[in-house]
Amino acid sequence: MRSAKVLRVSVTDRCDLRCVYCMPEAGVPLVPMAEMLTYEEIAAVARAAMAAGVRRFRLTGGEPLARRGLAALVRLLAGLGPDDLALTTNGMRLAEAAAGLKAAGLGRVTVSLDTLRPDRFEKIARRKGIERIFAGIAAARAAGLAPVKINTVVIRGLNDDEVPDFVRFARAERVEVRFIELMPTSGLGPECKELGGWRPALVVKGAEVRARVEDAFGPLAPVPDAGGVASVFRLDDGTRLGFIAPLSEPFCRGCGRLRLGPDGRLRVCLFDRAGTDLRRALREGTGGPAALEGLIRSALASKATWERGALEALTSEMFRIGG
Ligand code: SAM
Ligand code: SF4
Repeated sequence: MRSAKVLRVSVTDRCDLRCVYCMPEAGVPLVPMAEMLTYEEIAAVARAAMAAGVRRFRLTGGEPLARRGLAALVRLLAGLGPDDLALTTNGMRLAEAAAGLKAAGLGRVTVSLDTLRPDRFEKIARRKGIERIFAGIAAARAAGLAPVKINTVVIRGLNDDEVPDFVRFARAERVEVRFIELMPTSGLGPECKELGGWRPALVVKGAEVRARVEDAFGPLAPVPDAGGVASVFRLDDGTRLGFIAPLSEPFCRGCGRLRLGPDGRLRVCLFDRAGTDLRRALREGTGGPAALEGLIRSALASKATWERGALEALTSEMFRIGG
């Protein structure tokens, strides 16, 4: 069954971290500010998406909290009355932002965190500040942004020894940790001195992570109909763990996701390199509500026959598309 239709909105390609697999250390060519959709333009697309059947929104980036006044966008989107309004963030600015985001109508938050160790964090994110992320998680919980989920990309030889620590963290902090398979994105080139170029040996398959968890903590019971792209399981104490395996267990068949880039490009898939230019429609006066709705409906319809193609076709600019 095709899952609920979701619009993922990448509000910026700017980021205050440089995670080794995602952003090259030297940074990336950025979309000029004048070419980024305004919050009003994003809201116009979101309104049209709802008319086309989308009921859920997720804000992502780059780092969404690096864009000024994000709560204003949250307020606009919440005003449309979606079933779900979520944010994916690196958590660096979440402690200061959580209460305001909740007041603006944000429902829940997913925080990306690949290690629990300060020294290793500096190696993976190429910046200091893990304590700010822990503070952000606490602030999100205190603000009632529930459930708080954690995204952890598992990379062989870099952080895969921390799987048990993350399970204990999930238990202690009452958060759902979702272990994600590494994908070949633009951070993983020859200039990446920490990991080098992408290669299959870096990937720890979801099934392997699951087996390691069961070895250490006992059987995992599947949580049926958890929604979304993660396979979700429960330990006997109720701790929820998710496994997102885009490489070894692709979930294309059930995917109802559309992705709006900061430049207004609408993509039907991470493998969709072309997409549809909604900014042009919006700014050239051809993008009235009915026209936008039509473009979004045809994007959704094209998903039924979409073939994702070989791994090499992946849009490697995860920092722009938002994961
Ligand atoms: N900056 C925010 C953050 O880190 O949560 C939002 C954008 S980030 C691109 C969204 C998610 O994509 C993060 O959880 C990140 O770990 C994940 N991601 C980025 N590159 C990836 C890769 N090569 N393989 C798997 N996940 C990746
Ligand atoms: Fe920034 Fe998120 Fe990419 Fe890390 S994963 S560099 S926090 S966009």
